[in-house]
Amino acid sequence: MSSIILEARDVRYRYPRGREAITGISFHVRRGEKIALVGPNGAGKSTLLQMFNGMIRPDSGVMLFDNEEIRYDTRSLRQVRRRVGFLLQNPDRQIIAPTVYQDVAFGPVNLGYDEAAVKEAVAVALRQVGLEGFERRPPHHLSGGEKKRVAIAGVLAMDPDVLVFDEPTTGLDPSGSEDLMELLDELNHDGKTIIISTHDVELAYPWADRVILLADGRIIREDVPDVAFGNPTYVRMAHLSIPVLLELSVELEKRGFTIPERKPRSVLDMVHIIEHQHSHGHCCHSAPGTITICNVDMIPDGTIPAWVQERPGIAVGAMGTRAKQCAATEQIALEFTYGVIDKCILRALRGKDSLILTTGNMVGRVSERVEAYGKESGNTIRVVNLNTANQPPVTGLTNEEMKKDDPSY
Ligand code: ADP
Repeated sequence: MSSIILEARDVRYRYPRGREAITGISFHVRRGEKIALVGPNGAGKSTLLQMFNGMIRPDSGVMLFDNEEIRYDTRSLRQVRRRVGFLLQNPDRQIIAPTVYQDVAFGPVNLGYDEAAVKEAVAVALRQVGLEGFERRPPHHLSGGEKKRVAIAGVLAMDPDVLVFDEPTTGLDPSGSEDLMELLDELNHDGKTIIISTHDVELAYPWADRVILLADGRIIREDVPDVAFGNPTYVRMAHLSIPVLLELSVELEKRGFTIPERKPRSVLDMVHIIEHQHSHGHCCHSAPGTITICNVDMIPDGTIPAWVQERPGIAVGAMGTRAKQCAATEQIALEFTYGVIDKCILRALRGKDSLILTTGNMVGRVSERVEAYGKESGNTIRVVNLNTANQPPVTGLTNEEMKKDDPSY
């Protein structure tokens, strides 16, 4: 098990002239975890998050970073803030400079990096959030989602170990929220520990490794999502609701379905449970479809549209901003823009093929996820890498089926 990176020991805090917002809280966060702090408005989420990088100092109790007590002198605070990046709910309050470049460069310049190192840090950070080419743009003319990404890049430019997001999806539309959660997953995959606050149980349930239910300044329950959200008493105490998939699995169980110990956390998990028990362990299609992955950074222009055109009936999904930008530039129609891996697995289970456009180390992530699903479910889905494979058309459909096939859901 990985080491503890952040810890709270019996912390309490009262705002001047306010009531006690944090009433004696203890918990820890391990390196590489994805933690969701979930509770209703006024629960104390924001207050607690601000203790993680020393913005709020507890009245009593201690906060530890990397097993050392956080100290509150200017020098120590600078250090902890470099390692624990904080993203405010409203990016307008975080973005200060007239251009994207200057804004993202602010942290590295303050840390005393030389010019070349600042340039490099900004380039890497903008690339990570999918905003290459935005350097000279004024941040205040960008969309809400883009502004969030600028703010994230500003924090990433200092290469922190932990990223703390206060209500990360506030102000974003559903697809913008999905994009952002995908970015958080990518950053986590790159090794960052991520902590978010939210009151959205549907958002936290599939995403988090662990959730902390918070109400009235205290922890109601801290556990894996299906346990924390699965107990109606805790959920009621935290003024929340049970995630739909959990509620559905309880109802299915009452109707004689066997629900695995690890409860379904996605539509894919749920479909697996239903199909498995309805068809006695056999997938409804004897030959699952193929999932082809393509790293858009490593393929000549025009290759993908031509490849897709040769395969009528194939569905294309894009993961990450750069892949979506590439699809727009190359005029490739996208069927899936969020939850892409699961949607393509669902398609493969119906015997249909798909192509996933992505970048960098997300390529490995797709294979891992499909492989893990295969191991769990006993369905082997073929994953092919378009960048390395020189292979015949992968579709297993007949011409007749292709004509009938509507790639959308
Ligand atoms: P959440 O993020 O869960 O909505 P907060 O941490 O913002 O909760 O607030 C916790 C409690 O502290 C609430 O009762 C809120 O009214 C109070 N509070 C928050 N900020 C201040 C402040 N600046 N001054 C006084 N009280 C505050």
